[in-house]
Amino acid sequence: MFGLIGHSTSFENARQKAMELGFDHIAEGDMDVWCSSPPQLVENFKVVSRVGKVIEGAYIDSCFVPEMLSRFKTARRKVLNAMELAQKKGLNITALGGFTSIIFENFNLLQHQNIRNTTLQWERFTTGNTHTAWVICRQLELNAPSIGIDLKKARVAIVGATGDIGSAVCRWLVERTSVGELLLVARQQQPLLDLQKELGGGKVLTLEEALPDADIIVWVASMPRTLEIDATNLRNPCLMIDGGYPKNLDSKFSGTGIHVLKGGIVQFFEDIGWNMMQLAEMDKPHREMFACFAEAMLLEFENCHTNFSWGRNNITLEKMDFIGQASLRHGFSTLNLNQELQAAAA
Ligand code: NDP
Repeated sequence: MFGLIGHSTSFENARQKAMELGFDHIAEGDMDVWCSSPPQLVENFKVVSRVGKVIEGAYIDSCFVPEMLSRFKTARRKVLNAMELAQKKGLNITALGGFTSIIFENFNLLQHQNIRNTTLQWERFTTGNTHTAWVICRQLELNAPSIGIDLKKARVAIVGATGDIGSAVCRWLVERTSVGELLLVARQQQPLLDLQKELGGGKVLTLEEALPDADIIVWVASMPRTLEIDATNLRNPCLMIDGGYPKNLDSKFSGTGIHVLKGGIVQFFEDIGWNMMQLAEMDKPHREMFACFAEAMLLEFENCHTNFSWGRNNITLEKMDFIGQASLRHGFSTLNLNQELQAAAA
């Protein structure tokens, strides 16, 4: 059995959904009530893959909301409690969705393996980042040519290049896609220089320098909502793949020739009888999901019960190949810019 750990996109949203699901006592509570609320196993469901394999899964809402990010101890407790619940429910492989994997890594939760009388077994959890990185690369390869961008000549800016997903995307684009040039963007210089050395190329630039130069921009950093960008300086055509969380770039960029695609999102070939993707505000909540969630499903389909994506900068091209092939075989396709591409990719 596989699991997904997630959360609502805002406090307001969470209260509304809790009311709909009949958790009235939590729904009516203020932020302090929510901070002390335990995780909830919201629903169980069955999924049948395109090749007929049947698996069962469960969705656990961590009762975390992004407004709690500044409350370090609360955020830490929310993630660990949700993981403990997943393990106690006997879930073999569970994806850490939304902010939960970021909290796990950035707050160094590896140090907190014991929760009350449970010792967390790390092999039961995955960040889902390998599948996310593969999906973003495939979205780039499928969609850029459809708007007239020649991949062999394209300059591709990776915002968040030194991150777990960003560095994997860079390796793939150099080794497999052979794009024209990589523009590497992050805030800290030394990791950028180390990455440039590992890749054997790529230009280290600031965000302001990279944007007007890029035919394709892959965002794999959680960007502040206050980020201001002058869209008139962007190239035409320009493909933006919004792989960060939350996905807030379509409101920042509009204009002729600028194409914004929600990155790291996949679509299953048929509807799944769950309701929890409404929490994540997907356009087609019975089919669409984050690629990191889909990774837990794929590992269950493949009987691969291991922490497939774990730690930082451990994603290899071989692992991306494995999860990518499983993704296609079991009936996932990437979210694309237009219907024709969507149909061709399915
Ligand atoms: P990491 O923490 O490993 O990497 C974040 C990267 O972003 C680093 O390179 C960091 O470098 C850079 N960064 C952070 N802030 C800024 C900024 N203001 N300007 C420029 N660069 C910045 O994160 P992950 O790779 O694990 O995840 C990346 C994003 O993908 C997250 O937003 C995450 O929520 C999202 N995600 C999406 C999934 C999906 O299914 N669609 C699944 C998993 C994650 P530095 O600190 O030096 O700036």
